[in-house]
Amino acid sequence: MHLNQRVVVTGGCGFLGSHLCEKLLDAGHEVICVDNCFTGTKANVFHLMENRRFEFLRHDITFPLYLEADQIYNLACPASPIHYQHDPVQTTKTSIHGAINMLGLAKRIRAKILQASTSEVYGDPQVHPQVESYWGRVNPIGPRACYDEGKRCAETLFFDYYRQHGIRIKVARIFNTYGPRMHPNDGRVVSNFIVQALNNKPITIYGDGSQTRSFCYVDDLIDGLMKLMESEDRFTGPVNLGNPSEFTILQLAEKVIEITGSQSKIKFEALPQDDPRQRKPDITMAGKVLGWEPVTSLEKGLKRTIAYFEKLLTTKQSG
Ligand code: NAD
Ligand code: UDP
Repeated sequence: MHLNQRVVVTGGCGFLGSHLCEKLLDAGHEVICVDNCFTGTKANVFHLMENRRFEFLRHDITFPLYLEADQIYNLACPASPIHYQHDPVQTTKTSIHGAINMLGLAKRIRAKILQASTSEVYGDPQVHPQVESYWGRVNPIGPRACYDEGKRCAETLFFDYYRQHGIRIKVARIFNTYGPRMHPNDGRVVSNFIVQALNNKPITIYGDGSQTRSFCYVDDLIDGLMKLMESEDRFTGPVNLGNPSEFTILQLAEKVIEITGSQSKIKFEALPQDDPRQRKPDITMAGKVLGWEPVTSLEKGLKRTIAYFEKLLTTKQSG
């Protein structure tokens, strides 16, 4: 790894971005965190503000950005269904105009650029587990389309800039990731269940809970993203990053209740439109090319995440 790189992290105040900024600083890099604080918050990076190698820039990536850097991690985009459906037009703009602006920046300054893509590019998949060569099954006009199609088009842009302009690109398809600093009200399943369990409120399962997801702990994911950025230039991806251990949503609810020792009961609610039935990454490519695999079990990751939310809820109640 080359030390002392200047690295831009768009979406650096978000859940994944804040962990990434932290790990990049730990590795000796200079970090410019670019965020409009739509779903992220400066509180996520307060602890980094004292570091001389860290800089925060409030900026919306749908507008051009001029600065100098060696690497760009493009993470800016609301990621939870509640947030990305709140202003779907802005979500599409962030994915597409944002990608064009960041790719334009990478082209001008000859920086290497990594896109935080998503397992949502596979939609409601007919191939299981999902391999990178699968083209996906996405509804282009449904409520999830602003996110799914935005991310798909961003991948197209990355590969066209690569072929047309020869810029160095890396595309990571990230599967459901969880951990400390997830937004407590963003509606994602892990944060919802933990907050509900800690408050002894009903655990809301959408549908019958037989749909599956594979949950990756944040530290593992960030390690994968950094390994991808440092991989040989000729490796572009797309590469799946996620934990292949698959659980039904019902199993997740039971595990959260067990670990928290909560009195919560399960409450079944309507399944949202276009909710994928199953999701599990095939991570053979990440293993072979990056030498990466997740090491944190769901049990261990949940315990750390629950400890974070316990502290957050106690501070809120006493504050
Ligand atoms: P998050 O909502 O916590 O973080 C996204 C950050 O982007 C926020 O800080 C937000 O304020 C910022 N942002 C949004 N629009 C912006 C804009 N126009 N300009 C500048 N900043 C903007 O979400 P996250 O979970 O940290 O996700 C980060 C990235 O990883 C996203 O691109 C997401 O699509 C991708 N991803 C995440 C997951 C996951 O499970 N967390 C899974 C797949 C892909
Ligand atoms: N889900 C649920 N209860 C909740 C929140 C989510 O049953 O309180 C379900 C949701 O319908 C989906 C799964 O959990 O099947 C994962 O949802 P999330 O929004 O976390 O991620 P995504 O659907 O984008 O993978």
